[in-house]
Amino acid sequence: MVGAGISGLAAAKKLAELGYSVSVIEMETFPGGRISSCEIEGCILDDGAQYFKPESSTLLDLMLNELDTSELIKIDKTVNLINNAHQILPPDPDYSAETRYSYLNGNSTLPSLITEYLKARGVNFLFGTTVSCIQHSEGLFELLDMQISSIIKADGVVVSIPLPQAANLLSASAIHLPASMDVLDRVKTLRQIEYRQCLTVMLGYPFMVPMLNYYALLAEDKSYSLLWLAIETMKSSHRAPEGVTTMLAQMGPRFSKYSFLESDELVVGRTLLELEPMFGYTFNKPMWASVKRWRDSQPMGYVRFAEANPEEILPEVVVCGDGLIKGGGKVHLAWESGIEAANTISTRI
Ligand SMILES: Cc1cc2nc3c(=O)[nH]c(=O)nc-3n(C[C@H](O)[C@H](O)[C@H](O)COP(=O)(O)OP(=O)(O)OC[C@H]3O[C@@H](n4cnc5c(N)ncnc54)[C@H](O)[C@@H]3O)c2cc1C
Repeated sequence: MVGAGISGLAAAKKLAELGYSVSVIEMETFPGGRISSCEIEGCILDDGAQYFKPESSTLLDLMLNELDTSELIKIDKTVNLINNAHQILPPDPDYSAETRYSYLNGNSTLPSLITEYLKARGVNFLFGTTVSCIQHSEGLFELLDMQISSIIKADGVVVSIPLPQAANLLSASAIHLPASMDVLDRVKTLRQIEYRQCLTVMLGYPFMVPMLNYYALLAEDKSYSLLWLAIETMKSSHRAPEGVTTMLAQMGPRFSKYSFLESDELVVGRTLLELEPMFGYTFNKPMWASVKRWRDSQPMGYVRFAEANPEEILPEVVVCGDGLIKGGGKVHLAWESGIEAANTISTRI
């Protein structure tokens, strides 16, 4: 498995259940990928996925029935809408109807719990190792690291990373794989789906916000500069020291694209200008601010799983993730794609 994001964890779980010996290679020192939480000055913020809406998936079943639920919380406060004039409007009833889950100490608790669960069932994890190339030798697939040293050999590989990165990996590997030219056709298919960038801006304030009837605001339209604003401290009391409020803004695709390489100072300054019409000048001077840059945040469209993983071209290397499922860019859908990858590869190796 390349990647310990939620789709890789799903595939690892399913393959382990089917009786395979599974190793997960992850470039970071921790699991989760875009399910990410960070700590700033004693405050915990979800700088990747904001919440889980697993509905009736096997992920929900795992979360409720097999993992530790002592830190699992339902976010019961509403998400109101904002319009282009920065007016706060009532929530969208459809959007609010589904249950949103989070964890007391950050959403990265979920991938950590799943990793521990999988380790206990024999899945091997190798953190801090980047796969730079896949080569085929003596009937096996060999994963190589950035120093072109061998990491592991396997009968098959699941590549569970964002599609543009999967395309780069397969492209770098093509010459070392059977049917190289056909592999490049698969690369072309993966490249059809672009991912949007997202700038996440986190702000800390030395005061409490007044009681509000919502905890987050969602833009009516994705073209707005501000896409999402959450008062992170309203998710749980564990998220910040007493008397501190934290806010997290996810900036819209256009804003994020054009400001992606600008300095933190400029990005924070522009974000504060977006907040001012709604919250007033008091919020113009945070005691700290931090910017997280997601180059491949969420897919803009999807390519069908079967098209990305044709049986006739390199069937033992299966790609999965949120760009291979309609409505992607969601944790529970990335999970489902990982399960599909495991079921598919199990019929091919
Ligand atoms: C800012 C933001 C907000 C979001 N909000 C929500 C939300 O509120 N609700 C929701 O459901 N979804 C949300 N999403 C989407 C959701 O986070 C993703 O759809 C999902 O987490 C994707 O999981 P994945 O496993 O497919 O990919 P990833 O999470 O990207 O996992 C890929 C993993 O592979 C690793 N990796 C990459 N390349 C290599 C390599 N060469 N070698 C080894 N390891 C490698 C990465 O480090 C990473 O851990 C959000 C995403 C972002 C970025």
